[in-house]
Amino acid sequence: MFDYVLKGGQVVDPKNKIFSRLNIGIKNGKIKSLTIDDISGKEVLDCSNFVISPGFVDIHMHEDPYDENKKYFKICISECMLKMGVTSVVGGNCGSGPQNPLKYLREVEKLGYPVNIGLLSAHANLRENISNFDKYKNVDVTTINKMCERLDDELQSGTLGLSFGIRYVPGINHDELLALSYVVKKHDKVVAAHVRDDAEGVISAIMELIDIAKETGVKIQISHIGSMGAYGQMEDVYRLVDYYSINGLDIGIDCYPYNAFCTSIGSTTFDEGFLERYKIDYSALEITQGEYKGQRLREEAFKVERVENPDYLVIAHVMKESEVDMALAHPRTILASDGVLNDGSGHPRAAGAFPRFIREYVINKKTVSLYDAIAKMTCRPAARFGIDKGSLSIGSDADIVVFDLEKIRDKATFEKPTEGPEGIKYVFVNGKLVLDDGKIVNNRLGRSITID
Ligand SMILES: [Zn+2]
Repeated sequence: MFDYVLKGGQVVDPKNKIFSRLNIGIKNGKIKSLTIDDISGKEVLDCSNFVISPGFVDIHMHEDPYDENKKYFKICISECMLKMGVTSVVGGNCGSGPQNPLKYLREVEKLGYPVNIGLLSAHANLRENISNFDKYKNVDVTTINKMCERLDDELQSGTLGLSFGIRYVPGINHDELLALSYVVKKHDKVVAAHVRDDAEGVISAIMELIDIAKETGVKIQISHIGSMGAYGQMEDVYRLVDYYSINGLDIGIDCYPYNAFCTSIGSTTFDEGFLERYKIDYSALEITQGEYKGQRLREEAFKVERVENPDYLVIAHVMKESEVDMALAHPRTILASDGVLNDGSGHPRAAGAFPRFIREYVINKKTVSLYDAIAKMTCRPAARFGIDKGSLSIGSDADIVVFDLEKIRDKATFEKPTEGPEGIKYVFVNGKLVLDDGKIVNNRLGRSITID
């Protein structure tokens, strides 16, 4: 007798090349059976109108903060993830994450979390742990060595790799990138990067990372390529990456399905010259918090908020949709949300990216098949960081999403960025039902993900 039986659904599991109607038996948190036989369970869910996929894996998101004083997670984005059918996430991206990632993961084990979560060691945090350095300035060799030691410890204890936000810390030089990347290579893990520049500057920014891969042999992941290169550079980005890949480097790329990006208004992205770089005026920017919430900005409001509320998130409606489409259709690209929320405000990608990808690219534009889309959201992102997730293999953790292919669509908008999608019927995390008919019924079953 199984704990749950999912009956008659269209099972899609690219890791195992499965694409047919099968019954699934779940017991003790694991997938115990994929079968054509009639099986019985304590709870039997008729899935004959639905697609059954491994729970989605989001390797690029920005995790919920942990409140040190109250000893709890300020849960918001991780529940948005769950509502999208995401069951495992990787945080600590773009160079910033929890100051102590291993402590964060221990709290996940203690308190539970809506989804399974692994973390990258984050470059800006490694720097801050030593001192409050000027982000525009290089650091000396002694400092780099100290960062390498701490990174080595964190990777040894199970972080999944290292993230750089080179754009956000322009003082990172070649020596710093190289030394830290050698440490990651020693552990055979991944360096993910928000590269140094975008638009016309993206090719040389990617070359900087490729040079590091050439020197160290480390695996690299180019983060959210849409926001970096969807301004007319996308074809050249993929030519470059394909060329270096066929010649021996291991380069991954991820992208989210929107043509607007989001970051804090005080960040270096908006340093002098950004209007010319994106060929825009201030009205391309929409602020998500404070006095001007929901408004397109004017120069004066931008300048005031940048100084007074540098953490406020701003949306930049600047990318070319056709270039985002090109990136998402490329076989190398995997889907990742880059979801980020600040007190519930931010970009709708945090609550919409995965269903939107299916709705827009599989159903509407038909540029990606359902099978490939699911691969880009499950086994391929999991494999990128070497985590044992993203499949329905017998014996694997029962992380599953059941959705209605006719109904699935994102509902999150720039006005309501945390609005959950339509069409997600059931989600299982570690063998238990956590989302029933779009509603979260348990948000504490996620565990920490670490790798050796
Ligand atoms: Zn980023």
